Amino acid sequence: MLGQMMEMPLTISSLIAHAERYHSATEIISVETTGERTTTNWGNVGKNARRLASALDKLGVALGDRCATIAWNNRRHLECYFGVSGGGMVCHTINPRLAPEQLSFVANDAEDKVLFFEPTFLPLVAKILPTLKNVQHFVVLGPRDEVATHAIEGLLFYDELIATGDADAVWPEVDERAASSLCYTSGTTGNPKGVLYSHRSTLLHTLVGNQPDGIALSAQDTVLPVVPMFHVNAWGVPYIAAANGCKLVLPGPNLDGQSILKLIDDTETTIALGVPTIWMNLVEALQASDSKLPSLTRTVVGGAPLPPSMIPIFADYGVELLHAWGMTETSPVATLNQFLQRHSTLSDAEKTALRTGQGRPLYGVELRLLDENGEILPHDGKTQGDLQVRGHWIAKRYYGKDTDALTEDGWFDTGDVSTIDEDGYMVIRDRSKDIIKSGGKWISTVELENIAIAHPDITNAAAIAAKHDKWDERPIVIAVKAANSTATEDEVLAFYKDKIQSWQIPDAIIFVDTLPIGATGKVQKVELRKQFGEHLIKQGKNDA
Ligand code: AMP
Repeated sequence: MLGQMMEMPLTISSLIAHAERYHSATEIISVETTGERTTTNWGNVGKNARRLASALDKLGVALGDRCATIAWNNRRHLECYFGVSGGGMVCHTINPRLAPEQLSFVANDAEDKVLFFEPTFLPLVAKILPTLKNVQHFVVLGPRDEVATHAIEGLLFYDELIATGDADAVWPEVDERAASSLCYTSGTTGNPKGVLYSHRSTLLHTLVGNQPDGIALSAQDTVLPVVPMFHVNAWGVPYIAAANGCKLVLPGPNLDGQSILKLIDDTETTIALGVPTIWMNLVEALQASDSKLPSLTRTVVGGAPLPPSMIPIFADYGVELLHAWGMTETSPVATLNQFLQRHSTLSDAEKTALRTGQGRPLYGVELRLLDENGEILPHDGKTQGDLQVRGHWIAKRYYGKDTDALTEDGWFDTGDVSTIDEDGYMVIRDRSKDIIKSGGKWISTVELENIAIAHPDITNAAAIAAKHDKWDERPIVIAVKAANSTATEDEVLAFYKDKIQSWQIPDAIIFVDTLPIGATGKVQKVELRKQFGEHLIKQGKNDA
């Protein structure tokens, strides 16, 4: 016997329709690429999104066609999110920092029909134009600019395009299993791979990801997604914000500590989300300012390991750091570090220790650990293995591929090495590509980095494997010193003593001015290995 309840498809248009209807006056503040701050609201975003869907339909863009964006976090990009996906097309967010040939690769692989881009990217788009095989409409995300019209024949301007859309347009009916957005993985090795989300997976991620033990945004929050909208749908924040009528602050391209601090204080942001490097830069800016971050209560941190030393620093400002883990392939939120009831009796130090892990799975996500022979490992908080995941919003297959990207029994292998305890709290020990194997024993680069960053004179650090004749690999740490610091290599090495076993202590500390950071805020260890992988050999320190 079937149930007798209404069945409405779980579509992205239902999110924006809700925001337009019930949170119409709630503000959205947007920092434009020019630096200007504009204010709109969910009512206008909803109206413009419907107009955009209608305008694309009039242009002949069909259901399922891919429409790409090369854009920062701002209000026109937000309208594209809802207008394209809500209209039944696929919003393909492209990372603007990709090399031109990779940009052409992803646009061609996705067979993008429409390309929306910020005015500042006009020269880049004009340059790669001859290589773009499928794009029929190029749209500048802004008002008309006569000079720009000379760069690309038939160039369209977003503000004019939406004016051609029907103001009374209603959202089309779309199958909830239809594709809604497309995001390519960072592709540190080989070409990037596309992850094609569906309306249903996005809606389930929106609803579950925002439970009280999830990201927990509410209509009382002012939310600042520092995480880029070209990286896994800004961790789903635009959708969660629409479903819950949050006030949104979209930060534009300037994500340095000072700009973010000013934006948080000016807009009275209550919750911000981003990778650890964002918060490390914010700490530096905070310490050089008089701000006490009065409005901010929480930040969600993910994308890379959260250095534990950051937790008490933010606690002094009354800000809770909520650690989350996920991947492009997991939509992304899979685990979040929220406490259980019995943790209320833990000491502050014990709470901080628990908080440094990546947390426990949301409903709808299952985790398991495997050893190198494919045997399932226990969840005892100690045994380390390859982390696999399955669930409602986990990728099954990469875009355009003929075969699934899963194990024979239907799990996705994350490439992370983790432990999981009895309660499901998961701790990432490393990426399997980064972990150091020294004399047959594993050394976690995350642990080495956390110790270095806890040193008062070190602002950022990355541990890598350096080649070694006797031990195959030995750890070395590439570190950035605080301004005016006189710390020496020996002092930093001494800081490791008694914190880890002596054979795990790095063989060298190399000071640099900055670490190579990719567009999604992660340290690029591939670059560091290229530059410093032979350091011990070159220094003749490779046989003891
Ligand atoms: P991406 O697909 O670019 O989002 O990268 C996903 C990878 O980022 C994961 O497989 C992890 O290696 C890493 N990652 C994400 N969140 C965390 C976290 N909280 N701690 C440590 N690593 C993380």
